[in-house]
Amino acid sequence: MDKIPAFNYQLLIDGKSVESKSGSRFDRVSPAHDKTVGSYADGAIEDADLAIKSSRKAFDSGPWPKLSGAVRARHIRKVAELIERDLEKIALVEVLESGKPISQARDEIKSSAELWYYAATLAQHSYGDAHNAIGNDYLGLVVREPIGVVGVITPWNFPFLIASQKVPFAIALGCTVVVKPSQLTSGTTVIMGELVREAGIPEGVMNVVTGKGVVGSRLSEHPDVDMITFTGSTQIGKKVMAAAAGTVKKVELELGGKNPQIIMADADLEAAVDAVVFGVYFNQGECCNSGSRIIVQDSIADDFLARVVEKSKRVKVGDPLDPDVLVGAIASSDQLQTIERYVQEGVQAGASLELGGTKLDSKAGRYFSPTVFGGVTEGMSIAKEEIFGPVLSVLKFSTMDDAVRIANSTLFGLSSGIWTANINSAMTFAKAVRSGTVWINCWMDGFPEMPFGGFGESGIGRELGRQAIQEFTETKTIAIHTGSRSMWVK
Ligand code: NAD
Repeated sequence: MDKIPAFNYQLLIDGKSVESKSGSRFDRVSPAHDKTVGSYADGAIEDADLAIKSSRKAFDSGPWPKLSGAVRARHIRKVAELIERDLEKIALVEVLESGKPISQARDEIKSSAELWYYAATLAQHSYGDAHNAIGNDYLGLVVREPIGVVGVITPWNFPFLIASQKVPFAIALGCTVVVKPSQLTSGTTVIMGELVREAGIPEGVMNVVTGKGVVGSRLSEHPDVDMITFTGSTQIGKKVMAAAAGTVKKVELELGGKNPQIIMADADLEAAVDAVVFGVYFNQGECCNSGSRIIVQDSIADDFLARVVEKSKRVKVGDPLDPDVLVGAIASSDQLQTIERYVQEGVQAGASLELGGTKLDSKAGRYFSPTVFGGVTEGMSIAKEEIFGPVLSVLKFSTMDDAVRIANSTLFGLSSGIWTANINSAMTFAKAVRSGTVWINCWMDGFPEMPFGGFGESGIGRELGRQAIQEFTETKTIAIHTGSRSMWVK
């Protein structure tokens, strides 16, 4: 691309594109090219309050929650079509702001459209139970109602995809939302709001407030917000939960992970090597689902490590606008420093650095080389903590009990996997591991129909699938008495 483009964005409040009340703005410099690629309204508390007021009005007196599921579904499908129409533009903005490869960004936007199509189907499946065996004079109904105004707070690593795991589901079920994207990658969420408006969805159903953490914190504490759905770090997730406690609002959290893959000696090793390499370098390793920890059966461990190192050398790192690049730029200098600190800690703890470990030379931007550590043991920080970079930690095990114990030895529990030709090994592991998703002979394959979320400090609640209906609705019990009353005071 000859010239790196830059775009301007405003807040989206009550159907209108507006500046923040303070009038101040902030910029994003592309992590791959060191060029300004976006300018955003710097929303603050007063802007968040206006957005909440608009979403509250759209929920309490607007038509949206009262429309039939069929009508809401039609609108949501229309947004999916508009996403497909604008796929190239949205993918480009994602690349410029996040540094991820263009081929991957295109796939993500395509998958996001699929999430909108799927969420539309749930609009017509939000129903409850009828009880006709609770006594001859009674009929009981259990109905589901939209929970209300939902605050949506998202991170920088998959901005459009993660917002698409939340917004279409919430609004399909009749909620209204105020969305606060990461300040590093806000552009495509504003674009999403504009597409929602273009699809004819009424004002206030989706408001977008760009800005810093203060906007998220305001959403979390505000009494007129009924629920927060948050994806981000465990550290900020805990703050969101504490802030939400003040008004006892529902909180759904999708947080970090240190996801283990068990490699058994009987596995298809060629497939496993490829999946390990994909799992750790995909999105530069800036991925909650990163397969950053592999636990290999000792009889094949040295050979497997050598094959992973060999394949890692063939991963192309560079300008994310190059369609052949597999690993792009690191999103921020803070993130780069975190990666460098963990590499140092790994070396100091006695792990063997088999590949990489350094920042790559480049004319612009910041890139980190694919990195592999062998000889990692459970106590090391590189075995327990989320690095959020292209860094793989390789551990060994001898028995299945060992493998399960090591897999379960972190505070996280987002995803896990096992590679084996033996169904008994696969199912023994799948039952014993404490994680929200288990992949058997695959890695990071997600589907709109299948719920996603974590055990332990990886989060609370589930996104996607029909579990989204539970997340974004309240349950109401209606007891109907049909006969004459048996008097309390005789
Ligand atoms: P982050 O926690 O720093 O920020 C997430 C969002 O919270 C941003 O929009 C930020 O502005 C906002 N925020 C900051 N302070 C806040 C506060 N006090 N109250 C409310 N909101 C506040 O996360 P990040 O650095 O953007 O993203 C990386 C993290 O996200 C990683 O830990 C990663 O594992 C996690 N993540 C999890 C999933 C998942 O589905 N489990 C998916 C992607 C990323």
